[in-house]
Amino acid sequence: MKNVIITVDGPSGTGKGTLCYALAQKLGFALLDSGAIYRVTALAALKQQIALDDEKALAELAQHLKLVFLPQNGEVEILLDSENVSNQIRTQAVAEAASQVAVFPQVRTALLALQRSFASQKGLIADGRDMGTVVFPNAQVKLFLDASAEERAKRRLKQLQNKGIDGNFAQILAEIKERDFRDRNRTLAPLKPAEDALLLDSTTMSIDEVITQALSYIKGKL
Ligand code: C5P
Repeated sequence: MKNVIITVDGPSGTGKGTLCYALAQKLGFALLDSGAIYRVTALAALKQQIALDDEKALAELAQHLKLVFLPQNGEVEILLDSENVSNQIRTQAVAEAASQVAVFPQVRTALLALQRSFASQKGLIADGRDMGTVVFPNAQVKLFLDASAEERAKRRLKQLQNKGIDGNFAQILAEIKERDFRDRNRTLAPLKPAEDALLLDSTTMSIDEVITQALSYIKGKL
């Protein structure tokens, strides 16, 4: 089947990124990490000292982003103006800035065409917040992955500890709740499941269980 699109939406820390990577590998599909696009927009704004509440300037910036996703030894390098920013966009500060930039309708509209350009003959896994509701409303399969904020904070803390970084559970939980609130309550494209999405709650599931359930649902739909 050609041009299949599978959308996976949900908040961060649910295992969504890992699920999408696994699905793309197993199905041989391309992968769109739309969060990375919002993160790069935010990073570019920070670098150019554009105020994070200047919707017009941010939209102009988003419209003209010189962004390249470069597959490299099984990973994807993200280049902004030819600079590899793959690590720079993964900081907490950039995540926070991304969710601020993402509230603006003009910014979201400016990034639509770029996101849609990932649709591919070999099929696409689209990872984000509004993939099934706004960017690819006609996708053949839609998933929404959720988990409790406490469980997501626990996972984030563990991730940091595995990298040898100290984290504070209460602070991480507060940041997660703040970002969730902003993502779920913005006027345009708020984080919410599409009506025809399968809801999966990963709070008490291992990532392998999530992948197995998602794959069996996808196989039934295609
Ligand atoms: O998924 P990730 O944590 O990389 O996304 C960073 C931020 O970008 C999110 O908190 C959200 O505010 C924004 N975003 C969005 N719509 C998407 C993907 C990400 O608003 N499709």
